[in-house]
Amino acid sequence: MIHKFRKYLNKYYGLFLIRGYIPPKPISLNIFTTRRCNFSCNYCSRNLSINSSVFEGESILKSDFKIEGLKKILIKYPSIRSVSFVGVGEPFLVKDIIEMASLAKKSGKKTSVVTNGSLLHRYFGQIGASFDSISVSLHGLNPDDFSKTTGVDSLVFKQIEKNM
Ligand code: SF4
Repeated sequence: MIHKFRKYLNKYYGLFLIRGYIPPKPISLNIFTTRRCNFSCNYCSRNLSINSSVFEGESILKSDFKIEGLKKILIKYPSIRSVSFVGVGEPFLVKDIIEMASLAKKSGKKTSVVTNGSLLHRYFGQIGASFDSISVSLHGLNPDDFSKTTGVDSLVFKQIEKNM
């Protein structure tokens, strides 16, 4: 009987949702991991922000997402199926990034991250077990263009190539 009811609910969940009979449940979580970045791309919203001071000083460190926050969210919203670590900043600058991704994985969630790719070599031994997918934003197709866009040394381009 319960099985049949569950099947019925699953079948008509979308309809009940639209009609407002049941509250919506979040199924994916995007975490703005940090505002810090080791690049300074000329088109980045970090640089274009009207209030760019939010990206400077001590407060920027405090803005890093904390694992305690993730624990609370996962407990409160068990319906979440995927967790993505993104942000206007570089997620691999955050010290707990691997721990947070592992926590999400152990909770049965799909995990992904968007990164500039420059720090992946620091985590080679742990990345595979922590993330289902990794997206690398490549800011230029050759070392010179890359350096002009990001404001970092063209050697970093080579490091990213190795990391991928
Ligand atoms: S790597 Fe991404 S977050 Fe960092 S400065 Fe460039 S565009 Fe912004």
